[in-house]
Amino acid sequence: MRVLIVGAGIGGLTTALSLHAAGIDAEVIESARELRPLGVGINLLPHATRELTELGLGGALDATGLSAEELAHFDRHGNPVWSEGRGLGLGYRWPQYFVHRGELQMLLLDAARERLGAGAIRTGVALTGFEQGPDGVTARVRDQATGAESALTADILVGADGLHSTVRKALHPDEGGPLWNGVTLWRGVTEADPFLNGRTMAVLGTNLLSKFICYPISREADDRGRALLNWLGEICEPTTELTEVPDWNRAGRLEDVMPHFADWRVDWLDVPGLIKGADEILEYPMVDRDPLPFWTRGRVTLLGDAAHPMYPLGSNGGSQAIIDARVLAFELARAGTAEAALARYDAARRDTVNAIVLANRHNPGDKILNVVAERAPDGFARIEDVLTPEELAPLANGYQQITHTNDLNGDSPWTVTAPRVR
Ligand SMILES: Cc1cc2nc3c(=O)[nH]c(=O)nc-3n(C[C@H](O)[C@H](O)[C@H](O)COP(=O)(O)OP(=O)(O)OC[C@H]3O[C@@H](n4cnc5c(N)ncnc54)[C@H](O)[C@@H]3O)c2cc1C
Repeated sequence: MRVLIVGAGIGGLTTALSLHAAGIDAEVIESARELRPLGVGINLLPHATRELTELGLGGALDATGLSAEELAHFDRHGNPVWSEGRGLGLGYRWPQYFVHRGELQMLLLDAARERLGAGAIRTGVALTGFEQGPDGVTARVRDQATGAESALTADILVGADGLHSTVRKALHPDEGGPLWNGVTLWRGVTEADPFLNGRTMAVLGTNLLSKFICYPISREADDRGRALLNWLGEICEPTTELTEVPDWNRAGRLEDVMPHFADWRVDWLDVPGLIKGADEILEYPMVDRDPLPFWTRGRVTLLGDAAHPMYPLGSNGGSQAIIDARVLAFELARAGTAEAALARYDAARRDTVNAIVLANRHNPGDKILNVVAERAPDGFARIEDVLTPEELAPLANGYQQITHTNDLNGDSPWTVTAPRVR
């Protein structure tokens, strides 16, 4: 069996590594002519760390990212509302990592090139379309340097081609563009002194107006006694319309984001200083897409953001792409036809991840922070004076139950121990 994967993001590369570990041939095509460590920080939840550890990447991950200890919510003045342990601190067997998205992608790329061979990941090759028949798939591809068109054949085609997926468009031609909720995210990375316990993700403010999220993402900076801080400024302006095609690499402007945070005074975090200190600011609209009724058609399937783009809340975008990859490889390694394996993958994953997409639209943390901002706009001394214990409870229980992150301390169910020859 030969699998053609479209897209060398976190989803596509983990799929290649997972298929290789299961004894299945894989090739990746990537439209970018060069893969560079783009993006800023993301989180890997313990269930994703477990799967990358199964792939032998636990050490590399630990040498790159930082093991998260705490998620803490504050009002915009830095007064504590609620906090909870994360990763090992919450009782999981595997850490949650704060990591640079680009560094994680490079780590996966290096491993994939080493294990599958450098020629198995072809950059500068874009999928333009495909046809499938009873015996396989023919993919039409374009060389991005020359514009030359050619065809590739495979037994299975996996669309891991992100938010603007060509494969998704072919399977669901009537779907419109990404859906925006009126929130714009400005993102950046700035070196600074560590804050709080040095392993905290801090969420300050409210998504009704302005919200600031910050966490450290670099082992290397940490080893030097410094922190490479990933920060996100979220501004809600629901009356404006989405005019540009969402692009993770779009440059943002200091003068657009700074007015929203210039007067923030938090004694343990220099919010305006972090924004000013970033070499580069990126701007991205908070978009997702509605859940799909199917990901698989015959020998073609979707994976990662192509299947389920979600708001970048709750740390699940990259993590769910990794789980998709592992389940897909597991199903393909079982006996039976390619079509049956892809149908099982779809059945195993789609409802679960669709529920996360919907849950991310109603983050319980946001509701609580909005109530705090309404009741105590100028700050408070004790959160008990602002919220009742019942009002705080959803923060502790809501999101995790939906995303099934609290029942994963067993070994990975998706490791293929005896690769089958087909
Ligand atoms: C450049 C970039 C920067 C990002 N930065 C952040 C960030 O800072 N924070 C965050 O939370 N998330 C970020 N994301 C999104 C995040 O990576 C995903 O939500 C998550 O990791 C799931 O990844 P994925 O592999 O499914 O999709 P993606 O990471 O989007 O990868 C899809 C890949 O497919 C390639 N591709 C697209 N169309 C074609 C085609 N027709 N033919 C061949 N290849 C194609 C793309 O170039 C891309 O490399 C970024 C994504 C990208 C592409």
